[in-house]
Amino acid sequence: MLKLATRPSPATSKRMKAVRREGTEPELRVKALFGRLQVRLDPKNDHLPGKPDLVCRDADWAIFIHGCFWHRHPGCGKATTPKTNRSFWAKKFGENVRRDRRVIRALRSRGYSVSVVWACQVEKSNKIQARLLSKARALGVIK
Ligand SMILES: [Zn+2]
Repeated sequence: MLKLATRPSPATSKRMKAVRREGTEPELRVKALFGRLQVRLDPKNDHLPGKPDLVCRDADWAIFIHGCFWHRHPGCGKATTPKTNRSFWAKKFGENVRRDRRVIRALRSRGYSVSVVWACQVEKSNKIQARLLSKARALGVIK
């Protein structure tokens, strides 16, 4: 149980909400990319471990679009740690990272290919498009 004193400050809470909102933008971009590539997606993914952000309909392929802050993109400038309440954040981030690993293992053990796309990669470059394109080809989802 968290003590009241370890709760994030109002300013931090505001930032947390903002980060969460931004997280949807990269997802929309990847969705749009898949639309252009004519990769068909399953509309509902709730039945799978970790509820992947996107699941390909024609292959067992789960795609996560991870926010760099919450999911701790290694080496990324956006994976900052707030200066206050460090123990709160360490615990929170640790839980997130462990859950992500667990979910990926669970999906792979069900025979799923799993791709993790970091939000900053979607914002920055076309590299991620090329990576997803070649993965889609490798899985036989597109020609
Ligand atoms: Zn990042």
